Amino acid sequence: QISAIGASHLSTATQSSLKHANPSMRIPNLIGGEFVDSQASTTINVVNPATQEVVSQVPLTTNEEFKAAIRAAKRAFPSWRNTPVTTRQRVMFKLQELIRRDMDKLAMNITIEQGKTLKDAHGDVFRGLEVVEHACGMGTLQMGEFVSNVSNGIDTYSIREPLGVCAGICPFNFPAMIPLWMFPMAVTCGNTFVLKPSEKDPGASMILAELAMEAGLPNGVLNIVHGTNRNSVVVDRDCFAFQFGQEIVNNICDDDDIKAISFVGSNTAGMHIYARAAAKGKRVQSNMGAKNHAIIMPDASIDATLNALVAAGFGAAGQRCMALSTAVFVGGSKSWEEGLVERAKTLKVNAGTEPGADLGPVISKQAKDRIYRLIQSGIESGARLLIDGRHILVPGYENGNFVGPTILSDVTSNMECYEEEIFGPVLLCMQADSLEEAIDIVNRNKYGNGASIFTTSGVAARKFQNEIEAGQVGINVPIPVPLPFFSFTGSKSSFAGDLNFYGKAGMQFYTQIKTVTQQWKDLPSQGVSLAMPTSQ
Ligand code: NAD
Repeated sequence: QISAIGASHLSTATQSSLKHANPSMRIPNLIGGEFVDSQASTTINVVNPATQEVVSQVPLTTNEEFKAAIRAAKRAFPSWRNTPVTTRQRVMFKLQELIRRDMDKLAMNITIEQGKTLKDAHGDVFRGLEVVEHACGMGTLQMGEFVSNVSNGIDTYSIREPLGVCAGICPFNFPAMIPLWMFPMAVTCGNTFVLKPSEKDPGASMILAELAMEAGLPNGVLNIVHGTNRNSVVVDRDCFAFQFGQEIVNNICDDDDIKAISFVGSNTAGMHIYARAAAKGKRVQSNMGAKNHAIIMPDASIDATLNALVAAGFGAAGQRCMALSTAVFVGGSKSWEEGLVERAKTLKVNAGTEPGADLGPVISKQAKDRIYRLIQSGIESGARLLIDGRHILVPGYENGNFVGPTILSDVTSNMECYEEEIFGPVLLCMQADSLEEAIDIVNRNKYGNGASIFTTSGVAARKFQNEIEAGQVGINVPIPVPLPFFSFTGSKSSFAGDLNFYGKAGMQFYTQIKTVTQQWKDLPSQGVSLAMPTSQ
């Protein structure tokens, strides 16, 4: 049964402005400022992971609709790029106000579609909101360079200009924050944008787009298309299940009018997009998978450290790219594992809408099965199961994709559960005799998203900061996601590209430099000289 949430993501005014009737609560495309029902005959169900109820249906945007979205973005570009940056910033000022106004609605939508707890969903929106606030300072952020009199009477300066049409491809785990990492920065730089939300939870993107338009973003500056590349079982209007071959992501990579792509998601998709789009000459920033480690020194403050590990390991049911999924205990701190188990046992697993829930469900049955399989493979290869979150029953939500907090000890780096990103509430415990050995374990892992150390020794912390191979480093901080005036800085297999999301790098990603050399001097002409001009 399709509930009324699909089109009810949108205000009544917008629903009634849909060009086509939307009886099945299908999520519309956003093209040239209009929410338009897709003509696609196939859709993907958006499923509430706590109940399995179908919340809405995502159409597989057709090729014609995709092209119309690109045309709309291209048409909107010339006047938007010439709109003063102060005016563009003011749209962001208004947008941040509207996001605050509708924070509860956004959070509820996230919890229903994605599963995380309402409190966590508020955090999801808030961390995105901070990027909108950051975009409000784009005038300052974009300041160029000027050198006077580089040669006699000649000055050189640089200007940052928007690229044109940019695109964003989003993952399921932060339905509000990650779209907000992308389009606010891109459009405030003067670009127009085509956003493809995750097909698993597109609702927050739709609400945000509606708010952006209410804030005054002109038609065509932000467009939304739907679908994925992946072959999945989908349902057509007559309810027949079949495989589909629509390739919206490839269309985005291949389209000549798209100049830059922001991607966040898995390595499989991210490296595909990076390679395919780069072959077409596009710039790409691709944030991908992770295996974030915490090194626990025996001199760390026990209570604070264990609380931090449990929160960062199991929050959002482990479905954060910055979740701490591996704890490396150094020397005597190994005995602290017991404290982890005690704390993990107190966590309440429930639907995210229920008061007091600490962990909601994971996104899908497939994700749950995969997590189970990786836990089992850890046990079979010699890890000790300290607490088992499999087969838990949540009263009232018996069909939910719940996995409780799980801790595996004595994990070694050749185990599949260590090599793979589990993306669930599973904390792996490893052991090292020294800080050097612990750093070596972390650095041998292929991912480099985040890493933390817990210690009271400045010497150990400084050594860790210098030697650790990770983009985001925490010192007594479990999830060191930088605020937007810095950038989100994954490294190794966690990132492809060279300009990170938000901060100065984010602005640089969405702009290109033009360097102007001007001569204003009142001197007689020197005559014709064919020699290379030099400045002496
Ligand atoms: P995903 O790669 O399955 O999906 C992300 C997007 O790519 C979706 O829009 C999807 O439609 C599309 N897609 C999926 N498979 C594709 C394919 N084969 N070809 C082309 N496009 C494809 O990722 P997910 O499961 O939605 O998100 C979880 C992953 O995202 C985890 O690996 C997590 O670590 C990562 N993530 C990373 C960061 C970061 O900043 N590093 C942040 C959040 C999530």
